[in-house]
Amino acid sequence: MVSSLSALRQSSSIAVPAPVAGGENATMISVDRVTKRYRGSNGEVNALEPVSFEIKAGEFVSIIGPSGCGKSTLLMILSGLTRHSSGAVTISDRLVDGPHTDLGIVFQQDVLLDWRTALQNVMLQADIRGLDKRDAQLRARELLKMVGLEGFENMYPHELSGGMRQRVAICRALLHKPPLLLMDEPFGALDALTRDQLNLDLERLGRDLNITVVFVTHSIPEAVFLSDRVIIMSPRPGRIQEILSIDLPRPRRLTIRETAGFSAFTRALTKTFEQAGVLHDV
Ligand code: ADP
Ligand code: MG
Repeated sequence: MVSSLSALRQSSSIAVPAPVAGGENATMISVDRVTKRYRGSNGEVNALEPVSFEIKAGEFVSIIGPSGCGKSTLLMILSGLTRHSSGAVTISDRLVDGPHTDLGIVFQQDVLLDWRTALQNVMLQADIRGLDKRDAQLRARELLKMVGLEGFENMYPHELSGGMRQRVAICRALLHKPPLLLMDEPFGALDALTRDQLNLDLERLGRDLNITVVFVTHSIPEAVFLSDRVIIMSPRPGRIQEILSIDLPRPRRLTIRETAGFSAFTRALTKTFEQAGVLHDV
C-alpha cells in the first residue's frame, strides 16, 4: 500500500462515498427475522432460522460460523441474488427484493479473466456498467496503487501471485464506488503470510474509503482484527449466537494480535463456539 494517502483522499477519482443521510451512524442494512429454506434433491434444507441485525454505514462487520451454517446464504440474500423465504432486508432504505447493483462482491476465488490484464480486469466493472472510461480508468489505476499494485497494471492474471490476484478482484469490486462491499471468505485460499498482508490492506482500505463491509470468514483472529462487530452464527440451521463489539483502536497493526485486549476477544469467540459445540478439546 502506498503511504501518500492524503494525496489519494484529495484525488477526485478516489472520492469517498457521499455522506449518508442521517449522518455517519445511520443504519445502512437492516435484516429483520430473515429465514431461508432451500428445496434440494434431498428435500427441504432449513439454512437460516430467523436472523435479525442492523449494520451502520461505515461499519466493518464479520459473520463467522462453522461450515454450512448459512454465511454465504446470508451474504447472497443481502446482495439480492438469493431470495429469502421470509422476513425483510432493507439496505439504504430500500427493500431488497431482487439483485441490486449498488454494491461490490468479492469471493474466495478471484474469478479474473485470464485474457485481460490487471487493469482490464478492474475495468470490466466499468464495461459492464457503462461507466465513463476515462474517469473509471483513473480510479482503477489509483485503486491498484492503493493496494500496492502500481507497476503491475499490464500484467496478466497468470503473472500475478494469489494475493495480487485477489487485490485486483477487490479493486474491481470497488471501481464503481459502491457504499457496500460484501466479501465471502476472500482470503480463504491464501497462505498465512499473504493473508496477514491482505488483512492489513483491507483494514486500511476500509478506513480510507469509508465503506461499509460485510465480511464472511472462518477465522477467529481475522474476524477480530478486521471488525467493528462480529456476528457469531450457530451450526445449521444458522442462527445468531451472539454479536460481539470489537472496540480495539484503529488503525490496527499486526502486533495488536499480541495484546491482551486482542486475546480477550479471540478467547470470547472461542468460548462461544465451545458452548455451541462447534469446538471442543480432544
Ligand atoms: P456456509 O457459507 O456457512 O458454509 P451456506 O450458506 O453455503 O453455508 O449453506 C447453508 C446450508 O444451505 C448448507 O446446508 C447448504 O448445503 C445449504 N444450501 C446452500 N445452497 C443451497 C442450494 N442452492 N440448494 C440447496 N441447499 C443449499
Ligand atoms: Mg460459504
